[in-house]
Parts: sequence; structure tokens; C-alpha cells
Amino acid sequence: MSDKYDLIVVGAGAMGTFHAYHALAAGKKVLMLEKDQRPIQATVRNFGMVIASGMSGKWFDYGVYGTGLYKSIQERFDVSVRNNGSVYIASDDDEQQLIHELKAHYDTIGYGCELLSQHAILAKYPTLKATYCREALYFPQEVSVEPNLFIHRIHAFMQQSFENLSIRRSTAVTGCDVSNGEAQVTVAGGEKFAAEQVVVASGHEFKLLFPEVFKLQNLSVSKLQMLRTKPLPALSLSGNIGTGLSIRRYEAFRECPGYAGIKTPEHLQELESYGIHILLKQAVDGTVIIGDSHEYARIGEEENLGYALNQHINALMLNEAGRIADFDMTGLSETWAGHYGLHDSEEIFENTVDGRIHIAVGIGGKGMTCSAGYAQENIKRIFGE
Ligand SMILES: Cc1cc2nc3c(=O)[nH]c(=O)nc-3n(C[C@H](O)[C@H](O)[C@H](O)COP(=O)(O)OP(=O)(O)OC[C@H]3O[C@@H](n4cnc5c(N)ncnc54)[C@H](O)[C@@H]3O)c2cc1C
Repeated sequence: MSDKYDLIVVGAGAMGTFHAYHALAAGKKVLMLEKDQRPIQATVRNFGMVIASGMSGKWFDYGVYGTGLYKSIQERFDVSVRNNGSVYIASDDDEQQLIHELKAHYDTIGYGCELLSQHAILAKYPTLKATYCREALYFPQEVSVEPNLFIHRIHAFMQQSFENLSIRRSTAVTGCDVSNGEAQVTVAGGEKFAAEQVVVASGHEFKLLFPEVFKLQNLSVSKLQMLRTKPLPALSLSGNIGTGLSIRRYEAFRECPGYAGIKTPEHLQELESYGIHILLKQAVDGTVIIGDSHEYARIGEEENLGYALNQHINALMLNEAGRIADFDMTGLSETWAGHYGLHDSEEIFENTVDGRIHIAVGIGGKGMTCSAGYAQENIKRIFGE
């Protein structure tokens, strides 16, 4: 048995990393264990949009907190945060109604946003099409990160900032239990570690640890398809761009009074059947990430999602993106799928085993925005502070 830790974190994605961060900030000694040589799951496959504006309830609060934390870390260490705002483009009457209603809500609670006229949208985002853009809701304070850089840089920042952090990569946790008043973690190869508390932040990996706990829950896995253009150095598409289908999908808009009366027009029905809503995000290398779609399988049936990328879905996304924006979408540089776990309640799945092992998985599509805030609260709860 090696040294004893205050906290062992299983999984070094966004959720595990922010649990480690907050425990370290509270003076705890932390070991973070990651099965892969470096994280390659949802945390690096996403858009990197940090968009509290799309969240509701406590998730909005976590998102606002997370935005502030991203900005403050960026002031100390380059973790790839850009303060370039978010926008939701309305393309018809229903979407326009929802952005007005959401603006009224955010005006009431004092979360800054402004309506952009078609003229203002096209001045700010000249690559978007006048035929699509009616009006938009813009959040200047929101940020984005580069998902393929962020997690590695924040680990480097944490290693530089906290001497009480150990990270072990290529180390799969195969067992976790409580005995003799402490939590014990076993890794492949048989080595064991002990801690006061353990956080299991294993993303959508439901088969290795606590499968008996997960199988009793209403958990699913979603497969999301993503596309990346070749570098477009002459293009300037700033920030997080959400579109009409995002307005029709995101939690924040679903809370608006008019949402119940919104109908899906025929031309969007097939897109919605694949859970497609178009988001655009230009990365620092000039490529544009276009996504995404959502297909679902119950846990235990994840294999039904298939291993291939569905080219019909990619074609639908490109066609809709072409209705929205006018940039070169030929000769894509990458296409990929990312997966996340989610619970039917659309909340995170939390469970505490034997008082010391705290499972936090299934945050769904909001983890880059909300993990930091959620983890801060969870660490306070776990250590009773
Ligand atoms: C395509 C896509 C786009 C998205 N876009 C956005 C966005 O723009 N904004 C936003 O807020 N959210 C977005 N999300 C959601 C966000 O990416 C996720 O909510 C978040 O990354 C989940 O983080 P996590 O740490 O829970 O999971 P993961 O990133 O999956 O990390 C879990 C880690 O645990 C490790 N692990 C699992 N089991 C073990 C074990 N037994 N031992 C050791 N290690 C283990 C895995 O290897 C993995 O590295 C997107 C997701 C996807 C897939």
C-alpha cells in the first residue's frame, strides 16, 4: 500500500480534474488516476463552448461560476480560454420569440445579454447568411476553450500550482471499496492506494466499476457526431455560435413560457430525429468545428450505437450548416464521434457507496460548462466544509 491520500479521483476528464482542483485548493492531498495515457473521451472531443446561457436552474449557476474560474485560471496560466462570447441565431418567428423571452429572463436576474438585429449579426459574423439570420441573442461575457488543449494545460497548471497533487496516467482502476475505515482503490496490475474519500468520475464507462449500481439507474449513453473543416485562415468566426435548432433544444429555452407552443417545421423534422442542432466554433488553428447529432442507447446496449460514423447524419449536418453560413465545408480535415453518459432526469447521477466513495457521472452535454461549479459544491459536501 502506497501513501494515504485525502482524495483519490478516478478519471481525469473535466469532472475528475475539477474535483481534484477544488480538493487541492482546500489543502487536500490528491491522487488522480486515469486509465488512458492521456484523456481522450468527451472532455477532448467536444466544442469547448462554456455556455451558461444555455443552462437552467443550478446548472446555470454552476456555469456562471465555471466561466469565472476559467477566466481567473487563464490570467495565471494559458489554458486556452478565449473571451469571445456566445450567440444564438434565430431563423424564424418561433425562435425569435424564444430569444426575446430568454432575454427578458436574463434581464430580470441580471445576466448580461443583448439582442442583435440582422444587420448587427452580419456585421459581427459576416460569414453567416442573411437568408438565415433574423435576429440573435448575444452573451459577450461567455468564453470558449480548445478542447484538445485545455485538459492537458490545466493538468500542467495544477501540477505547477499544487505540490500535493499526483497524477497517474495509463492506470485503470479495477476495484474500489471501503475497509478498515478507509477507501481502497485497486488498479490493473494489483497496486492498491488508500484515501479518506474517493470520487469516481469515470464518464460513460459503466462496465468496469460499480456496474451493479449503474444497471439499476435510468442511464444512457449518447453518441455525438462532429466535423472539422480544413484550416480557413481568411475566415473570422468568433466565439460560440448556436443556431435555430440549438434554441429549440437547449434547457434555458425550454424553460421559456412560449416553448410549449413551438412546433417543428417540416424541414427540421429529420434533423431533430437525429438530435441534430448546428453549433459552429472556429478553433485557434483556423478550422471550424461543426456539429452535432445525438443518438442514444441504454447502458448495457451501448454497442447498438455502432462503431461507424453515419455519413447520412454528416450530410444532414453539412446541409443545414450550409443554409446558415457561407464558408468552405469541402475537404473536411476530421470527423469523429464523442460519447457521454446521461441520466433520464437530465441531472447528474450521484451515488455514495459506504460513506466514502462518491460517484459523479452522467453530466451529459454540459460538462465543460458546469463541471467546475458542480465539483466545487461536491467537494465541500464530501469533506463537510
Ligand atoms: C461531441 C461533444 C460535444 C460537447 N460539447 C460540449 C460543449 O461545447 N460544452 C459543454 O459544456 N459540454 C460539452 N460536451 C459535454 C462534455 O464534454 C462532457 O460533459 C464532459 O467532458 C464530461 O466529462 P467527464 O470527466 O465526466 O467524462 P470524460 O471526459 O469521459 O472523462 C472520464 C475519464 O475517466 C476515465 N476513466 C473511466 N473509467 C476509468 C477507470 N476505471 N480508471 C481510470 N480512469 C477511468 C476515462 O478514460 C476518461 O478520461 C460535449 C460532449 C461531446 C461528446
